[in-house]
Amino acid sequence: MRSALSTLELVRPRSLAAALGALHDSTGSERLTPLAGGTDLFVYLNAGSFAGRRFLDLTPLADLRGIRMRQGGVTIGALATFRAIRTHPDLRRRFPALVAAAAEVGAWQIQARATLAGNIANASPAGDSLPVLLAHDAVVRARSVGGERAIEFARLFRGYRDLDLAPDELITAIELPDPPRGAIPFFRKVGTRRAQSISKVVLCGVAALDRKGALEHVRIAFGSVAPVPLRARHVEIELEGRKPGRATAAALRDALANDIAPIDDIRSDRDYRMAVAGNLIEQFLRAVQGSR
Ligand SMILES: Cc1cc2nc3c(=O)[nH]c(=O)nc-3n(C[C@H](O)[C@H](O)[C@H](O)COP(=O)(O)OP(=O)(O)OC[C@H]3O[C@@H](n4cnc5c(N)ncnc54)[C@H](O)[C@@H]3O)c2cc1C
Repeated sequence: MRSALSTLELVRPRSLAAALGALHDSTGSERLTPLAGGTDLFVYLNAGSFAGRRFLDLTPLADLRGIRMRQGGVTIGALATFRAIRTHPDLRRRFPALVAAAAEVGAWQIQARATLAGNIANASPAGDSLPVLLAHDAVVRARSVGGERAIEFARLFRGYRDLDLAPDELITAIELPDPPRGAIPFFRKVGTRRAQSISKVVLCGVAALDRKGALEHVRIAFGSVAPVPLRARHVEIELEGRKPGRATAAALRDALANDIAPIDDIRSDRDYRMAVAGNLIEQFLRAVQGSR
């Protein structure tokens, strides 16, 4: 049954310190739930599947806003929407895979509200931005009344919908280092249809070619093929130091079988996801090869 909105409480903090204090002081059934764009939370409330009744509105917090390009990378505020990411000229140039992922999240209306930190904290293995953050060695900045810490994105997921984030911690920003000069980023989402669908398989790849045309700095990350978004480490090892055209499809698919364990679910089945994941790696390699 739908949650009646009249029974919900919204706390609007004036500062990040006030927000962190309120979050820390709320416990048990009074626990505050951070609310950003609301595009996931409202779905749960509408479905009656969310028990929380008290929400902490993050939108007034200027400290969580902004996209700051800096030497060596970018710092993206937790409240940055996918629209802001998609339309940011420097991100388009320096992080095109993130921009491509942002353009695939729902429709314009969703992109205008949905935040990058919300996509992370929602912790779905199908979140479209997550393979991009993995493939770019992103770092998540989290803060509580106890202070700030930096969490490598690759260590953030402990299990299915389980993050290394305490209930009184807020994600404040996400940092991405620039990939090495000449690296080729690649993003591809496969869903039931071309737009506005939840992914069956998502791949983000990043790789560069050395002077001899061999692959280096290979990063291949997947979403929707395991309980958590993950790097295909066996595939990366198989590819590192090899020329893109020399990696055999059979060796790649063997390596891939050691990396991912897709399940049958309502959206797709295991065999389909395995086949598509292998195809996407081959597309990525063709893109890298074609960039020379
Ligand atoms: C119609 C529709 C289509 C969608 N399509 C896609 C899609 O194609 N791809 C995709 O990946 N997602 C999709 N989504 C899901 C959703 O839009 C994203 O996950 C979005 O990024 C969530 O961000 P938000 O700001 O709306 O989060 P909210 O709903 O506000 O919050 C989500 C979760 O994150 C927590 N949270 C938010 N901000 C913080 C923070 N700073 N620190 C700690 N915790 C925080 C909240 O407490 C909550 O648990 C879709 C949703 C809808 C309704």
